[in-house]
Amino acid sequence: MATREKRRRATALDDDERRGRRRQEEAALLLHKIKGLVGWVVAEVVAGRSPSVALHRYQNYCASSSAAASPSTCACSYDAPVGTDVLSLLRKEFHASRLNVLLRVLLVVQQLLQENKHCSKRDIYYMYPSIFVEQAVVDRAINDICVLFRCSRHNLNVVPVAKGLVMGWVRFVEGEKKVYCINNVNAAFSIPVSVEAIKDIVSVAHYILVVEKETVFQRLANDKFCERNRCIVITGRGYPDIPTRRFLRYLVEQLRLPAYCLVDSDPYGFDILATYKFGSMQLAYDANVLRVPEIRWLGVFTSDFEEYCLPDCCLLHLSSEDRRKLEGILTRCYLQREAPEWRPADPLRGRFHTS
Ligand SMILES: [Zn+2]
Repeated sequence: MATREKRRRATALDDDERRGRRRQEEAALLLHKIKGLVGWVVAEVVAGRSPSVALHRYQNYCASSSAAASPSTCACSYDAPVGTDVLSLLRKEFHASRLNVLLRVLLVVQQLLQENKHCSKRDIYYMYPSIFVEQAVVDRAINDICVLFRCSRHNLNVVPVAKGLVMGWVRFVEGEKKVYCINNVNAAFSIPVSVEAIKDIVSVAHYILVVEKETVFQRLANDKFCERNRCIVITGRGYPDIPTRRFLRYLVEQLRLPAYCLVDSDPYGFDILATYKFGSMQLAYDANVLRVPEIRWLGVFTSDFEEYCLPDCCLLHLSSEDRRKLEGILTRCYLQREAPEWRPADPLRGRFHTS
């Protein structure tokens, strides 16, 4: 083995070991904090008091005509809270208070961390369906826990089922599994559930192409696009989930490659592009670690209709719902602040391209 290859492998192993150690330390610290909070709540209840917890509220963007006109006046931020909610056991929503739900989910998380196990949000819901009432209640509790302990969802060992796909000039090891896309650059591989499990990543790609839809991804695979283009293609199959966004960010950071995004020229395509670049409202507290601000919009643009002489049969009229959605997106403060050039001169033109 060449000396340089040996050195590269040794460095990669060191990195993996360091990351593994850091993960263990983070899990131990989180467990310590959880036990501290649960112990305090129990002590308060035993003493006859009603404990309450202050929780920061995050907002990465707002949408209103005044914010669009002067975004400097709004308080939106990727890393600082915009307010505080106070959760108490007495204030009930549905059947249980928000704090009660938080504590129940916290006990599940504590067990997961202690046993080094993982489960999904859905699994947690089915543990106490009569208390949680609906999935959204569990989802909010998980977000609350992340805000309370200043961590991300993956730190809680709550894992999603990854739906994204990747192909192209990259190979890596995921846990014990070799994901060698590079051996067949036209084949689709599942995006790893957790970037923490990725080791030994190697790529000779020149750029990353993110496509909105699985059909477009499949079309590129059928056309053997990656055989002629040294790139990595990924898709979140619509609105990207957390694993897809974290994987894209991981690729951009580790491989230092530019990322381009190809979406439909309609309000949904634009919203998906915005989710990659600015983050979603639901995960505002984590937008800073999930978003990929470097991503560049490749199209399709409304100007492409004329430039590439797209026939009318490829175009659809905007429905009234499309217009409402688009008007809402156009007033988001981050557009004015970070990407004013994205706003076309006449965004509500009558016709929009679809897939
Ligand atoms: Zn704002």
